[in-house]
Amino acid sequence: MPIIVMKFGGSCLIDENAFNKILNITRIYKNEKKIYVASALSGITDLLLKTAYSLENDKDTDKNMALIEKRHIDIIEQVFIEESEHSFKVRDWVDNKLSELEDTFADIKEFGLEPYYKDYIMSFGEILSTYILNQYLLSNEINSVFIPTNKLIITNNEFNNAYPLYDLTNARTKKFLIPLLENPNKDIIICLTGFIGRNKIGYITTLGRGGSDYTATIIARSLYDVGNDKDIKVILWKKVDGLLAINPKYVPRSSLIKNLNYDEAKHIANFGAKILHPKCLEAIEKHKIPLEIRNFEKPLEQNFTEISELSDKQYIKGISAVEYATIVTVISGSMVDVPGVLAKIFKAMSKNKISVSLVAQSSSEISTSFIIKEDDRDKAINALENEKYFSEFFHFKWENVAVINITGLKILETKTKAEIFNALDKKNIIVKAISQSHDELNLSIVIVRDQLVDAINIIHEDLYNEFEDSN
Ligand code: ASP
Ligand code: MG
Repeated sequence: MPIIVMKFGGSCLIDENAFNKILNITRIYKNEKKIYVASALSGITDLLLKTAYSLENDKDTDKNMALIEKRHIDIIEQVFIEESEHSFKVRDWVDNKLSELEDTFADIKEFGLEPYYKDYIMSFGEILSTYILNQYLLSNEINSVFIPTNKLIITNNEFNNAYPLYDLTNARTKKFLIPLLENPNKDIIICLTGFIGRNKIGYITTLGRGGSDYTATIIARSLYDVGNDKDIKVILWKKVDGLLAINPKYVPRSSLIKNLNYDEAKHIANFGAKILHPKCLEAIEKHKIPLEIRNFEKPLEQNFTEISELSDKQYIKGISAVEYATIVTVISGSMVDVPGVLAKIFKAMSKNKISVSLVAQSSSEISTSFIIKEDDRDKAINALENEKYFSEFFHFKWENVAVINITGLKILETKTKAEIFNALDKKNIIVKAISQSHDELNLSIVIVRDQLVDAINIIHEDLYNEFEDSN
């Protein structure tokens, strides 16, 4: 029987109507084994953090605690029958957790907000919401079990942005999840908290903001590693139909990307399609576990995004843009055939914690250009100017620009590139630099910032048939 790991974000847990939709989804997937990963109720993680940062004011703390309580009680009142067994149970649980939370806030006030405390505080959001979901399923006579993922996902010590240690996590999955999933006599939905794990010595860690998607994929990978059943899929329920080829703020009618492979998806996720946590792909790619992004409002919709090893090569998958970028250029006659010049440039950036995205250098080696965030511009120029090595034979220039990224296997075809540049020429778009690394599924084009919207539109218009149209 296939196993589906589904993630329900905060917007899937907002009211009675939303909880009903989860029941509906449960019916639709009645023939699959199901693991539900839940996020905190929407806004709760932020509220928990905000409270932890402003503990000096007792009144604010009380107000925030009351709000956290109210948000959960409101949901409980909506989705459980009053005075029923499950409503008592869930209220008791919430009361207990909230008093633990209050004690922790008192500790933080006394000892300071150590990195560990932040993760611990944030974990309450998922612990509360997931338990509510689990009790809700039980109250609807659906067999379910609640497992907080600090029991399952063992991570390194990087609080706030932890990374799973798969060997240790797999051992836990084998011990706690596999027996539940492989029991032929029992059909049970396993409810797991998103976002949280623990390090080896038992401290709760979190996987980075928006990390519940990541939890779903970590669990899928771990199940594949240790279970007998390799037919595993991840579904992320979202507010949208899936990934769009272009942000609708640039083009009026953008198409949905119906399928793309892991590499294409990594590019799209990195370029700020906030719909997908970039780390998810790293977890599932190894075993080629498919991932679907589907609209929570329309669970039967035929159009959705599937990320798998397969991809329709005939389509451009997406165009994205970096609006506020600066291109920095280092120019010198003495860069030719001198080893180590690039190392020096990038070392200067790294010392100043400046992240470099695109890099372009023609093989004449007379100049090298690279892209940084506009916010880092002054820091970058200062860093280069203060570097003794560059003071004599080098000079620098910079310009604020925008970068367009065009992604898809199709970009490997020369003809596609010819079409793109033809299109840009029609609108007199000035191309400042270009970059595509070896066999990479992404072409980056640096252009004059004012021309960004025109440039994206003309590419979309001229290459319209190269995009997959969903509607
Ligand atoms: N609740 C966490 C956050 O807001 C994780 C998630 O929502 O995925 O970042
Ligand atoms: Mg969230």
